[in-house]
Amino acid sequence: MNTIEILDKRNCCGCTSCAQKCPKNAIEMIEDKEGFLFPSINKEKCINCGLCIKTCPMLNYEVEEKENFPKALAIKNKNQAEKMKSSSGGVFIVLAKYTIKNKGVVYGASYTDGLNVEHIRIAKEEELIKLQGSKYVQSNMNDVYPYVKKDLQNNKKVLFTGTPCQIKGLKNFLDKEYENLITCDLVCHGVPSQKLLKKYIKFLEEKYNKKIIKYDFRNKEKNGWGLTSKVTFEDGTFKYINSDFDPYYSNFLNCNTYRESCYNCKFAQKIRPSDITLADYWGVLSIHNEFYDENGVSLILVNSEKGNEILKENKEFIEKIETNLDYASSRNKNLISPSTRPDKRNYIYNEIDELSPKVYFRKVLKYKVTPKKFIKLLVPNELKRCIKKIKRYKND
Ligand SMILES: Cc1cc2nc3c(=O)[nH]c(=O)nc-3n(C[C@H](O)[C@H](O)[C@H](O)COP(=O)(O)OP(=O)(O)OC[C@H]3O[C@@H](n4cnc5c(N)ncnc54)[C@H](O)[C@@H]3O)c2cc1C
Ligand code: SF4
Ligand code: SF4
Ligand code: SF4
Repeated sequence: MNTIEILDKRNCCGCTSCAQKCPKNAIEMIEDKEGFLFPSINKEKCINCGLCIKTCPMLNYEVEEKENFPKALAIKNKNQAEKMKSSSGGVFIVLAKYTIKNKGVVYGASYTDGLNVEHIRIAKEEELIKLQGSKYVQSNMNDVYPYVKKDLQNNKKVLFTGTPCQIKGLKNFLDKEYENLITCDLVCHGVPSQKLLKKYIKFLEEKYNKKIIKYDFRNKEKNGWGLTSKVTFEDGTFKYINSDFDPYYSNFLNCNTYRESCYNCKFAQKIRPSDITLADYWGVLSIHNEFYDENGVSLILVNSEKGNEILKENKEFIEKIETNLDYASSRNKNLISPSTRPDKRNYIYNEIDELSPKVYFRKVLKYKVTPKKFIKLLVPNELKRCIKKIKRYKND
């Protein structure tokens, strides 16, 4: 058999690389009941060329090890305003602005109409805001890879960002190295489906009886760097939601809602398919307390000479120090292994169509509030900052 066949859902990450590569347009991405996309082959159109198999990152996931890489850095953007709009230390925006200043283009995940999340192409600096911030859902790649190839062939600088499986999907699709391509992946927990996110948005709209126009997973206005989301309604009002007290967010963080391939992720390791890997530097306070910043610190892995170069060229915009990758991995499990599949995953999507948003999120996605979480919520932010300062002082 020379064509892709999905016998086990754990073996397809939904990158769409096979569908974009197929010379006969024989592959269509079809949504399953849970809302994840899988390839479906039209046997009439297929000529058995085998390109879909060759391009699949779940079948061809090997990444070349490079001498002296990866290098782990604690890093942050010097521009506070840019960092406030970013999930962690705001390094993505520095690399993206550099690319556009050099007449290049940037590809990444953006909300589009109706709060869909898709990969788009950005050529203007003022539009980069669309890509800033993590969207904790699977971004739809549509037919973006051929556009990347065209830009590369036209000698444009391209910065492509995404989950590591999307980066490997692109690299397999291109099937050759391009000097003008720079790739950034993320340390990746896993992704829920867009169907789940849509149902959740509906749940919130019904709860507050208002239309939602914006959903920001990693808002820093109220609590600084952390896991607070901000929902903005059509009438201009907004609400901050703590991840511990939210059905979508808490189930995401507890690994209950991911695509099946995420529990079988080939990319949850220190050797990565990109030039630079971006992550939150959780635990930075305990190892580099002088570098801690309440508005965010990133951990990055520099994986190639190209990654090194782009950081050198942007050194005036960032602060960085070398760090210990083993320590960083101990605080960020997905750098070394995939998320563990919990039993709850067996049934979490089962009644997504049958139950109303209210019943579904209150019953199936209900979450536990532990006393520790409750006490944490009651502690005023000023006191939390004082505790962090004391911790920094004690570590000095
Ligand atoms: C699904 C997902 C899971 C993650 N899991 C972890 C984790 O376990 N540990 C950890 O340390 N960090 C994780 N991250 C990364 C983290 O949330 C930040 O994105 C990272 O710290 C970079 O932040 P930044 O401040 O440099 O830039 P930001 O401006 O926050 O980064 C934005 C970049 O993320 C990309 N992006 C946003 N949403 C998506 C998406 N849905 N799919 C693909 N690309 C997307 C954008 O294209 C853009 O390039 C995850 C990110 C995502 C999207
Ligand atoms: S074998 Fe070739 S023609 Fe058939 S589905 Fe795969 S890529 Fe398309
Ligand atoms: S992982 Fe990507 S390339 Fe492989 S079968 Fe799934 S969608 Fe196709
Ligand atoms: S966990 Fe792995 S398979 Fe899932 S989206 Fe992230 S990189 Fe892809």
